[in-house]
Amino acid sequence: MLAGSCCCGTVRFEVSQSPTMMGTCHCTRCRKVGASTFVFVDRAAFELVAGQPALATYQPEDGYKYARDFCSRCGTALGEISGDGDSFPIPANCFDDPLDLAVKFHEFVAEKPGWLPICDDARQFAGHPHKD
Ligand SMILES: [Zn+2]
Ligand SMILES: [Zn+2]
Repeated sequence: MLAGSCCCGTVRFEVSQSPTMMGTCHCTRCRKVGASTFVFVDRAAFELVAGQPALATYQPEDGYKYARDFCSRCGTALGEISGDGDSFPIPANCFDDPLDLAVKFHEFVAEKPGWLPICDDARQFAGHPHKD
C-alpha cells in the first residue's frame, strides 16, 4: 500500500498496488499546475481516504483534453482523481511513500523551457507519444 496526499493534508489517498508507469510531461499546462512527472494508477487499486469535499476540478478550455483535479485549500495538483478512466495519472510528487519507478519517457518536449534540462536517458517525444 502506498499513501499520498496534497500539500495541506486535506486530500489523502491510498493505492493498493504500485503504479504501472512514470512519465514526465513538459506541456505548458502541466508546467503551470506544477505537476510534470506523473504515474498511472488503476482505478480499482485507488481509494480516496479523505478530502472529497475539498477536491476541485479545472475543466479544460477548448483545444485541450482532460480535466485536472486539485485541492481547493492548498492548490496541489492531483491529476485525474475524479475522472472515470480505468487507470489515470496522478502527479508523482503527491506520494508520501517512495515509488519504485523511474521516468520511462518525456512527452511534449517541444514545449519544454530551456531552464529545465533533461538528465536521464528516457525516450523523448516532441508531442504526445504515439503507440508504435
Ligand atoms: Zn490540500
Ligand atoms: Zn502535460
